[in-house]
This record gives sequence, structure tokens and C-alpha cells, in this order.
Amino acid sequence: MKPAPFAYARAKSVEHAIELLAHPEARLLAGGQSLIATLNMRLSAPKLLIDLNGINGLSVIKASDGTVEIGALTRHCEAERSAEIAKYAPLIALAMPHIGHAAIRNRGTLGGSIAFADPAAELPACLVALGGEVEIAGGHGMRAVKADDFFKGLFETSLGSRDVLTSIRIPAATSGSRAGFAEFARRHGDYAMVGLAATAEANGRGLKNVRLAFFGVGDMPMRAKKAEAALGADDFDGAVSALGSDLDPRDDVQATAATKKHLAGVLLRRVAKQLLEPRA
Ligand code: FAD
Repeated sequence: MKPAPFAYARAKSVEHAIELLAHPEARLLAGGQSLIATLNMRLSAPKLLIDLNGINGLSVIKASDGTVEIGALTRHCEAERSAEIAKYAPLIALAMPHIGHAAIRNRGTLGGSIAFADPAAELPACLVALGGEVEIAGGHGMRAVKADDFFKGLFETSLGSRDVLTSIRIPAATSGSRAGFAEFARRHGDYAMVGLAATAEANGRGLKNVRLAFFGVGDMPMRAKKAEAALGADDFDGAVSALGSDLDPRDDVQATAATKKHLAGVLLRRVAKQLLEPRA
């Protein structure tokens, strides 16, 4: 199918993009890997597309002062190949190969993935597991929103109609940081049936400050807080049992709720092992 007709504008700066967003039926275009598909299927018919790709400075990857900042226009493939991401944001490096296929990662952007907020997507869950935040430019200036508050529901975030997501910020990994990632998908590169992104800190032979963000099991990344507490107390069976109350998935086209819960437990055991046995 072809998209409904739309006008096209190339934003020269973030401020210009915000000005253009005054149009009541405008949408931002980043990598186009999700948006263009929704236009072609006529699930969405904006009258104006505002292309962000001409804006300089939105694809930086910078680690300083204990924080990693990743610009919204950073392509998935750039993050995948970045030595700074591998060193300071290993969870994102673990997740990258699971996002679609190389052709999609060549165009898709981190900002687009976070803004689109697909409940089965890897990066929103990574951002939550990392306790990161999103930097947003809007009509009233800049603001930062914590990942735990950013995702509001199914494809719903705290971005307003005149907001541009400019970057994400995450705490830089240190020698005591642990990251774990696993997902089940029908084929490699498909959206996950169930996935888990996790971080923790080493605590002797155990773990502390565990953060578990499941995806594909709810309308947005789901923290499993009882399981986090159980893992922090070295109770691995208890952590898996706790998923019974932490998660409440629905049946969907991929799997029943019961299957998803079972898979979540399997993933938790795998990821707990990764957290306890740091990669060389
Ligand atoms: P676009 O498609 O350009 O935009 C998506 C939405 O975000 C639009 O509503 C747009 O207005 C908004 N937006 C974009 N940038 C900004 C910004 N800076 N500020 C505010 N709003 C913004 N993703 C996964 O996570 N996992 C997968 O397994 C996966 N598989 C895929 C398989 C296929 C076949 C395809 C086509 C895509 C797949 N994707 C997958 C999606 C891919 O990761 C996209 O790149 C991503 O979801 C959207 O990023 P984008 O840059 O392409 O955004």
C-alpha cells in the first residue's frame, strides 16, 4: 500500500523542528523504520513529516563524569560498533544484535526506538534497566525525564506533541557493574515474544541494586520488583516464583499468557547467571 499524501520539511535545528511541530498533524521522522511502515499500512496519516536527519549534533556518543550520553539520531549500527558503548554501556551492546536485521539497524535510531515505545522493543527495556533518563527539548525548553516515568502505556510516553527527544543518558558502567540480556523471538531479529534486560552491582559473591526490565509481557517495559529483591537476597528460586505476581502478561498472537510467564522465568535464570558471572 502507498501512504496517504503528506508534506515534507527538513528541520535545520532542534528549535526549527519544534517550530514546525506547531503544525497540528505533524510527525517527526528519524530512521523511518517504524514510522514509514505505519504510513504505508495507513495506520497513521500525518499531513507533515519533519525530517530530523539534517540536524547536527544529535548523534554523539559521549562518556564523561560517570554518565554516557547517546544522541537521539545515533543509528543502532553506530551504537553496535561503538567502543564507548561496549565499555560503558555493555547492556546496550548486548541488546543491539537482537534489534531487527542489519539493514534496519543501519537506519533505525536509538531516539526513534525509545520515542516509539514498542512494548516488545529492546532499547526501552534497557533504558529502564539502566535507570537512565531521556533528555527532551520542547516549547518550554529542555527537561529530563527518568526512564521509570517516561513510558506511560502502549506506544505511549511522556513526550508531548511539540517535544523532540534529543538524547538518552545512562550511568556509565564501572568494574562492579553487571549487565544481563536475553530474549525469545520466533526468528532471530524478530520482535521478542518475551525479553529481559537487567543490571546489578556485584556484592561479594552475590548481587545488589538489581533492576529487571521485562519486555513483550505488558504495555511497556515492566520492572519485576519482587524478583529484584529476591535476587538481591540470593534467592533465585524465589525470584522466579515472584514473577507470578510481578508480571501479568496477556495472551497475544505470539503466545499465551501462561507461556510468556514460563518463558520469563527461563530468561530470568539465564540472565541471573550472566549477572553473577561477569564477561571477561
Ligand atoms: P522512526 O520510524 O523515524 O520514528 C518512530 C516514531 O518515533 C515516530 O512516531 C516518530 O515521530 C518518533 N520519533 C522518532 N525520533 C524522535 C525524536 N527524536 N523525538 C521524538 N519523537 C521521535 N525494533 C526493535 O526494537 N526490535 C526489533 O526486533 C525490531 N525489528 C524490526 C524489524 C523490522 C522489519 C522493522 C522494519 C523494524 C524493526 N524494529 C525493531 C524497529 C526499529 O528498531 C526502528 O528503528 C525503531 O523502532 C524506530 O526508530 P526510527 O529511528 O526508525 O524511528
